[in-house]
Amino acid sequence: MGNEVVFLCRKCNHHLFAENPTINTLKNISEMDCPECGEDGCHNWVLSHVGDSEKEKENYNWK
Ligand SMILES: [Zn+2]
Repeated sequence: MGNEVVFLCRKCNHHLFAENPTINTLKNISEMDCPECGEDGCHNWVLSHVGDSEKEKENYNWK
């Protein structure tokens, strides 16, 4: 079962999935450039919902 927090790129709506994120994971994501459009990470990612990357095909697994 998926238990992933889904973030959206403000610019291109790219989905970013973080599985069982910790505070450190969230911090890293907030600083990460969008892999799709290259938008700067700072304040770019919007928390969307808790989802399942296996069901939502636009899959990006953050490790
Ligand atoms: Zn983007």
